[in-house]
Amino acid sequence: EAKSQGKGRQVVYSAEMDQRSAEQARLAADLRTALDTGQLQLHYQPIVALPGGELHGVEALIRWTHPERGPIGPGLFIPAAERTGLIVPLGAWILEEACRQAARWAYELGGAAPRTVSVNVSARQLREAGFAGEVAAVLRRTGLAPHMLTVEVTETAVFDGGTALTELHAIAALGVSIALDDFGTGHSSLGLLRTCPADILKVDKSFIDDITEGGQQAVVAAALIRICAGMNLRAVAEGVETAEQAAELYRLGYRFAQGYHFARPLPAEAIAAYRPMGAAPGLAA
Ligand code: C2E
Ligand code: MG
Ligand code: MG
Ligand code: MG
Repeated sequence: EAKSQGKGRQVVYSAEMDQRSAEQARLAADLRTALDTGQLQLHYQPIVALPGGELHGVEALIRWTHPERGPIGPGLFIPAAERTGLIVPLGAWILEEACRQAARWAYELGGAAPRTVSVNVSARQLREAGFAGEVAAVLRRTGLAPHMLTVEVTETAVFDGGTALTELHAIAALGVSIALDDFGTGHSSLGLLRTCPADILKVDKSFIDDITEGGQQAVVAAALIRICAGMNLRAVAEGVETAEQAAELYRLGYRFAQGYHFARPLPAEAIAAYRPMGAAPGLAA
């Protein structure tokens, strides 16, 4: 119980501790066990080429099946892991697992393998001195070519200051791609593009949702693709849920997308069977 755990600490926060942070503390404790007992798994969501939907790359997304509570989404437990610092060993595991899987696909599937694997890296990981060195070590251990790895960071993580930008430059120097995730939802967006060695801009789902209704957000999506073209950045539209959105994005100049319309995050074994929607069934292996 939170109260007894708080005893003896400098700050007794049992009373002030809201339900949310109590919940997060419990999750973080369970997550430690999860990491040690194999309750965690990576799923992979296809990143596809427009307009056809052919597989381009995949994004690794962590999944946790809690022994009592069932599946718990990363939106809930990643913040808990960030607060406790557990994200550092957890993130190291995620990076290595994803790189190992991508190397395995390249070996097993050849030309049909995803060309890149994207791994989400949190602000806390990026602030660790030597993170770039760890990325280099993982690439060596797994045998994955650097150009096949993309590191996804949010604007906020980069803006966090400190050594984040230094680490990003060191990672870019390895030949690894850098993607700015959820772009447009953080702060400092446009100024960041000058200082951050980004290769890819992932346009947040909130700018895609109303794209076919010609709403305010659609204006942003249209502006961002022009910025990307002008700055030689690759744009990826996130959260594409309908064929209409995909068609409109293509019309605006987007060439890469990700979303439920194409595929949900899938277990690693299912990636080899991914086919663009509407492909002739006879062509499936
Ligand atoms: P993200 O990196 O922006 O990942 C995209 C999220 O959008 C994923 O949620 C994905 O399942 C979801 N998504 C994809 N297409 C659609 C769509 O068409 N519609 C809707 N409604 N959602 C879609 P997920 O897996 O729940 O992850 C949520 C967030 O948690 C991620 O956002 C990322 O910030 C974080 N996360 C997930 N896995 C990891 C990880 O391995 N490490 C770290 N540090 N963070 C992670
Ligand atoms: Mg991401
Ligand atoms: Mg994202
Ligand atoms: Mg997002």
